[in-house]
Amino acid sequence: MDEKSLAELKYSDLIPHKPDGWDDTEKFLRNVMEVLLSYLKQQSDRNTKILEFHHPAEMAKLIEMEIPDGGENLETLVKISCGLDLVSMAGEWLTATANTNMFTYEIAPVFILMEKEVMKKMWEAIGWDTEKADGIFAPGGAIANLYAMLAARHHMYPRSKHLGVSDLPTLCTFTSEDSHYSIKSAAAVSGIGTDYCFNIPVDSCGRMIPEALEAKIVQCKKDGLCPFFVSATAGTTVYGAWDPIEKIADICERHKLWFHVDAAWGGGVLLSPEHRYKLSGIERANSVTWNPHKLMGALLQCSAVLLRQDGILFQCNQMSADYLFMQDKPYDCSFDTGDKASDAVRPAQRHLQAMGTDGFRRQINQSFDLTAYMAEQLRKTEGYELVVDPPEFLNVCFWYIPQSIRGFDEKEKMARLEKIAPKIKAKMMEKGTTMVGYQPDKQRPNFFRMILSNQAITTDDIDFLVKEIAEIGESL
Ligand SMILES: *Cc1c(COP(=O)(O)O)cnc(C)c1O
Repeated sequence: MDEKSLAELKYSDLIPHKPDGWDDTEKFLRNVMEVLLSYLKQQSDRNTKILEFHHPAEMAKLIEMEIPDGGENLETLVKISCGLDLVSMAGEWLTATANTNMFTYEIAPVFILMEKEVMKKMWEAIGWDTEKADGIFAPGGAIANLYAMLAARHHMYPRSKHLGVSDLPTLCTFTSEDSHYSIKSAAAVSGIGTDYCFNIPVDSCGRMIPEALEAKIVQCKKDGLCPFFVSATAGTTVYGAWDPIEKIADICERHKLWFHVDAAWGGGVLLSPEHRYKLSGIERANSVTWNPHKLMGALLQCSAVLLRQDGILFQCNQMSADYLFMQDKPYDCSFDTGDKASDAVRPAQRHLQAMGTDGFRRQINQSFDLTAYMAEQLRKTEGYELVVDPPEFLNVCFWYIPQSIRGFDEKEKMARLEKIAPKIKAKMMEKGTTMVGYQPDKQRPNFFRMILSNQAITTDDIDFLVKEIAEIGESL
């Protein structure tokens, strides 16, 4: 048989397009593996630049992006993004290889059982009765939050599933000013309207003020609106703040509202006995969003929406497609979970198995220690100022104030500070040494926001970063 090189191969040389194409298929896949391995090796080498920045037009020239009519050769295709967990990555490879959806037990028995097992661990971590709880994996926290809002509405107004929004009173929802934008987006998508998603003020650390929440609920009722859903955030996206869950749960009970906790970012802390008090009261929530792809390092997208009470998700989303969900199958049909939600993705079960809950506990505690270390370095180094001190979670938000502007009065200093972080970041990207994002917030000028959840970060890295930003800052 004449051997073809990778550059000569096309997809039509591979199985199943060419039934006897196993040798070439193997050659192609081994090549992909080589590329992935060398990518990983390069990424973990501390001497390579963290970023090789190219502007979009330049990048488009470097990598063949055009979609040809005839199909590219396979060599072009194998030339090909965060703290990567290798077990989770291997799981993803396996999942991609199996390429099955997860509607019913008969087509994905192992995945469905895995999903159930991961759910069980999450329900236990929250403190729910695992016999009664429910949940589903979703493609991202934003969608998980949407499912929670829809489930809440269905629970209170089941007729609207059939009759639509015209059957409803004017519903309204509440979340903090610092909550993730997906809560507002869920209000838009579900027909509630963003103007009826009220943003409750936060304190100086970014935590929802419960008295302000209750006052707004009372006001809304007076105005003839119909409050039904409150979302507290456990670990806000920017500052990592913890809304006061117990107090908000009391308010929801008093006013008979659905209580959702968006723990997309902070959920993993439930696995640390040392830090889980930050979420105490979460067991009183009706629903929780938790993204293992954030703090726990599972691969994107791995996000769960969890409900304290079984059955609601199912009733809300069930469409009973006759071609999938026959009730006369020879097994327990409650394992056909596809009707609980319109989409379902594979679980991070192998990742959990490999790490064990102790592994996560260690990892999370270590990240908290590193955050405390970084905050201490920033306090000790001239020119740095923490936006929230001490950081509540792994979000370290800070300014670097160059010497040249330290003397100005507060107003002038703030105005000049606005331009500092973007300039420092641009320099960092050029050098390719580090990359830290920045943003403004309400009255606060642009500040750096660093998230310390990557397991590869060491105290040396932090020392380097603190020195680097100060040096660039002084060189401007
Ligand atoms: C990241 C985040 C989300 C959205 O999660 P995605 O998986 O990115 O859709 C929702 N809520 C909070 C608090 C988040 O930090």
